[in-house]
Amino acid sequence: MIKTIIVLRIGEIFLKGKNRRNFFAAFIRNAKFLIRDLPEVTVEAQHLYALVHLPSELEKKCISRFQRLFGLTSLSIGYMTQKSISDITTMAVKQLSSCDKKKTFKVETRRRDKTFSMQSPQISQQIGADIHHALKLKVDVNNPDVIVHVVIDINSAYIYTDVIHGPGGLPIGVSDKISLMLSGGIDSPVAGWSIMRRGCPIHAIYFHSFPYTSDNAKQKVVDLVSQLSQWQGSIALDVVHFTDVQKTLRNIGTGDMAILLYRRMMIRTACILANNNQAKAIVTGENLGQVASQTLSNIHVIEHASSLPILRPLIGYDKHEIITKAKHIKTYEISIQPYDDCCALFVPKNPVTRGKIIPIEKAEAPLNVHTLAQSLADNVERIYINPDTI
Ligand code: ATP
Ligand code: MG
Repeated sequence: MIKTIIVLRIGEIFLKGKNRRNFFAAFIRNAKFLIRDLPEVTVEAQHLYALVHLPSELEKKCISRFQRLFGLTSLSIGYMTQKSISDITTMAVKQLSSCDKKKTFKVETRRRDKTFSMQSPQISQQIGADIHHALKLKVDVNNPDVIVHVVIDINSAYIYTDVIHGPGGLPIGVSDKISLMLSGGIDSPVAGWSIMRRGCPIHAIYFHSFPYTSDNAKQKVVDLVSQLSQWQGSIALDVVHFTDVQKTLRNIGTGDMAILLYRRMMIRTACILANNNQAKAIVTGENLGQVASQTLSNIHVIEHASSLPILRPLIGYDKHEIITKAKHIKTYEISIQPYDDCCALFVPKNPVTRGKIIPIEKAEAPLNVHTLAQSLADNVERIYINPDTI
């Protein structure tokens, strides 16, 4: 019986000196989490890569799951054999036998077992000659169509041909936690994913103005978190019941300031919730110039209300690039459901595009904005969302 394996390769870890061990441990832990419901599949940590042992019928399922493993630069499906040249050749011939005869190939060998009797170039030459003899495929060492990789490991040998890209980034859990301000729109889930990809687990915050925004809008956010949890594991979602405070804010200042007043209150509340959850920064889906509320002047006014760094990973992207990413991470179809995260009732006809801090602070002065933010944070509705195994 052929033993199937998957080789998982980790990137960037090589840059991290002392942290390397923690990074690698997180990578292995996360890989094991992705196959937690498949007892026949095991993950074996090697020196800075991993070998996954699996029954061949789970090949497709495992590949698709490991596409959600941050830190993974690439993976390959491999086939294990005894550590003998004839066994390896038999396996290589079997794997290449469906290859078009016009294709060219070369063999590349890595010898992890330094006690193996032949050197790598000799092994490649020998196996290459045997494959050529058996299949009449041509060798091309400079520009081959197929590379047969042979690895002589400590306990066994394996071969693989294809290298499939992984999502890259850093293993989730190696960076600090971040609070994601998640609306039901297209942008914020992509922003959250981009930061998760840098190793940060996320905690999500959604401002809900029931009944002006419907329970369908809230469900949409739950579904988005559920999709993001496929990459992280369980995510805590804080739903802030914003209606009363939003009404109060709508009625102060000159009406056109309303969006800035809401956003500043959202940021203050998000900072409290982030601190409660040991998160070190806030992430938003803001994008320069996309809508009136996202001019640099307005971003400045909003940021002024924050006590934590605000990260905006999408700031320089075009909308179509964000949509492509949203489709890739499978949040797009959820985001385009027609349930708005903000009711027209709360949106001024002509929102200010060049907000200024002094008039906004004047408008806020009659309110105790910090007490209001604290009461919003104190009355939050907490939902834990676990990933389905798909
Ligand atoms: P999105 O597609 O993420 O909704 P957007 O382009 O519609 O973004 P805005 O509506 O101006 O932009 O919102 C900017 C950012 O503010 C959002 O990306 C999100 O991070 C945050 N935000 C807006 N509304 C909410 C909300 N109801 N709850 C939580 N965060 C919100
Ligand atoms: Mg929006």
